Amino acid sequence: AAPSYLVGLIGSGVGPSLTPPMHEREAAASGRRLIYRTIDITELDLPPDSVSGLVAAAQRLGFNGLNITHPCKQLVLPALDGLTPDAAAIGAVNTVVFDGGSAVGHNTDWSGFASSLERGLPHAPRDRVVLLGAGGAGAAVAHALLASGVGELAVADVDADRAGELAEQVRRRFPDAAVGIGDAAAPERLLAWADGLVHATPTGMAHHPGSPVPAELLRPPLWVADAVYRPLRTELLRSAERNGCATLDGGGMAVFQAADAFDLFTGLGPDRERMLAHFHEL
Ligand code: NAD
Repeated sequence: AAPSYLVGLIGSGVGPSLTPPMHEREAAASGRRLIYRTIDITELDLPPDSVSGLVAAAQRLGFNGLNITHPCKQLVLPALDGLTPDAAAIGAVNTVVFDGGSAVGHNTDWSGFASSLERGLPHAPRDRVVLLGAGGAGAAVAHALLASGVGELAVADVDADRAGELAEQVRRRFPDAAVGIGDAAAPERLLAWADGLVHATPTGMAHHPGSPVPAELLRPPLWVADAVYRPLRTELLRSAERNGCATLDGGGMAVFQAADAFDLFTGLGPDRERMLAHFHEL
């Protein structure tokens, strides 16, 4: 019989995640069985650093791999036997693959965003890009932008230390790129300078409503990409569209990180457009 697969997602509040049905439906569409379980540390009343024990337990129980999400993407590092160079450079893991007794950490958030950008805004000029938000999503996006040929990147965050640390991290991996720190309180200057804006703060989600920058600053030829995907059409993207900017929603990043993880877990070469279509049905 064809092999079947057992994978899971460790994090807080992961119950409503769309990642499990995306993986299960893609496996079914490939004629394979894949069971994807959520392991919610908040529901289990476990602290975030319990991720190490959970990873070891899943490995013993015969899981093929795990996705790891907030707040465990960095805490999981000591539990792993190895890291891909990408995951090591970003310092965060969202995918663990169990292979012949070892647990290897990968980061498909960055490759997911890179694929989404390539697919959704293939002709957008990328000389100068502003990244707003230097947290977990911002780190993956920053690496993706520089891997995608962005020449100059300005990282801005209300927490200037976080922006500085991320700028330092990406300079180590991309020594030829010009990476600076932008003033999050002065978006007009930054956006007048930039070809594109990538937003990676929680602003625009249901519990953080609103737009991170005033609508009047969003003017073509600026393009605008959002990492937020709940909702897909954030206030930021709606304002940008209304003003005529090219936009990219966070759905592509969410789907393509799952597609890359699915490929790592199964080696089945997922149909990315089919996964995207499934996501939009969910
Ligand atoms: P995080 O808490 O790690 O980082 C958020 C950062 O934004 C922090 O550094 C914070 O200081 C900064 N910030 C908050 N408000 C700001 C503002 N108004 N201006 C400037 N900086 C501000 O969060 P995260 O895990 O990086 O997630 C950020 C968003 O990205 C969330 O909405 C999350 O759902 C989304 N996300 C999407 C994907 C995807 O696949 N599409 C993946 C991961 C995260």
